[in-house]
Amino acid sequence: MKPTPDATPTHRVVIVGGGFAGLFAARRLRRAPVSVTLVDRSANHVFQPMLYQCATGIVSPADIAPALRAVFARQRNVVVHLAEVTGFDLDRRLVHARMPIGEEMAFGYDSLIVGAGAGTSYFGHDEIAPYAPGMKTVEDAESIGRRIFGAFEVAAETADPEERDAWLTFAIIGAGPTGVELAGQIRHVATHTLRREFTSLDPTCCRVLIFDGGKEPLATFGDQLASRAADTLQSMGVELRMGRRVTAVDASGLDVRSAEGEVSHVAARTVVWAAGVAASPLGRKLADCSNAETDRSGRVKVLPDCTLPGRPEVFVVGDLMSLDGLPGVAEVAMQSGMHAADTIKARQRGRPPRQFHYVDLGSMAYVGAGRAVVDFRGLKLSGHLGALMWLFVHIVFLTGFQNRIVAVFSWIVALGGSRRNRVFTAADLSSAVPSSQIPGQGAGQHHMEDDSTQQERD
Ligand SMILES: Cc1cc2nc3c(=O)[nH]c(=O)nc-3n(C[C@H](O)[C@H](O)[C@H](O)COP(=O)(O)OP(=O)(O)OC[C@H]3O[C@@H](n4cnc5c(N)ncnc54)[C@H](O)[C@@H]3O)c2cc1C
Repeated sequence: MKPTPDATPTHRVVIVGGGFAGLFAARRLRRAPVSVTLVDRSANHVFQPMLYQCATGIVSPADIAPALRAVFARQRNVVVHLAEVTGFDLDRRLVHARMPIGEEMAFGYDSLIVGAGAGTSYFGHDEIAPYAPGMKTVEDAESIGRRIFGAFEVAAETADPEERDAWLTFAIIGAGPTGVELAGQIRHVATHTLRREFTSLDPTCCRVLIFDGGKEPLATFGDQLASRAADTLQSMGVELRMGRRVTAVDASGLDVRSAEGEVSHVAARTVVWAAGVAASPLGRKLADCSNAETDRSGRVKVLPDCTLPGRPEVFVVGDLMSLDGLPGVAEVAMQSGMHAADTIKARQRGRPPRQFHYVDLGSMAYVGAGRAVVDFRGLKLSGHLGALMWLFVHIVFLTGFQNRIVAVFSWIVALGGSRRNRVFTAADLSSAVPSSQIPGQGAGQHHMEDDSTQQERD
């Protein structure tokens, strides 16, 4: 194994992950006398809150995922490495990683910030993943986009009315922000974008259903905003199936159990999983080599200053961190990343480090039809006013000036129905859809645990 050359005598900070937490930590160290090594297995910083817009053709992947090298091109104390982190040696202060062509490397550090985020959790039923993809990466969004637009193409060529209806039925599991935002956009695509593009098919007949075990969509926003969101969704034609748990998914659709225990089958060729998250496996690895514990989602339980117990030089931040029940949202990631950077700077100056104090700036979700719900420190906004606030916040936090301009332009034209980012071939579609979903080729059904919950990330 080749150690990474350490050319500088300055304090070495290694950051694992260039998501919100890692990116904000590295930026915060801009003027600090430290050398920063940022290691990410992706070449890009992905703005996850806009993945559903990528899936539904509003923006292109490049608009929401700037290259990390470009982001840090002017920050002289940051070096970016494209590598998969595979483990840690906390005693020797080393981060082990595999480079793109397989070479093993070890990065030495004086301070370590781990912000490796979270992935999709199927509650132990990964076998349903091919039938119900989750949306965590740009690749996921592109694949879901191909399935959505492709479903209309297949429906248009299908003579059998039952088969056509199944292709025109979109089922979303999970009524949190991602599920709600995606559902609204699929209806918008059908009723505005595709409405006049088919001759043999009326895309507006498509059904978009959201399944969730809870009693209302966007439950974390409180009853008032949740009920406004439900009204907007229903006015757009989204069918809410609340109090329902999905018990099985296969190539033909999904089995759903009502609160009364009745199980019914819904024929749907496009199913999206917007229900569960699991922390990066690096969380388990960190816990195994320290005294830290993990919570049910695999997040690492940290001390109030975001460090590992007994390892003050190791910070765990963002979605990978478990602290005071804080949710896995971008704001927590950004603030915890900056807190880690501030603590490193404070130690260098000999100042006493502080505990992490999260400032809750509220939450928001774009529902559709120019309407959003916003809960900003008790101020509850909905409708078009909510959408303006949503727009403002997303522009502020989207990385890159050019991306902001493109995003605003894309949102404006998307309201009128235009979706420019939908490039795919017949071959793309057949690779996006499991072969067993192609008519005539059966597949076994995959049952999920009866007690599995279907709740979204936050
Ligand atoms: C579809 C979707 C919509 C969302 N919408 C909202 C929203 O509207 N508002 C909101 O506040 N939050 C939202 N969130 C949540 C928010 O995006 C996350 O809380 C935030 O991205 C967490 O930041 P992070 O830096 O902890 O992790 P991430 O942003 O996930 O970044 C983790 C980084 O670590 C890298 N990485 C992982 N493992 C390794 C490894 N082994 N080696 C090297 N690199 C690795 C990844 O490539 C990635 O770049 C949404 C999330 C999703 C998925």
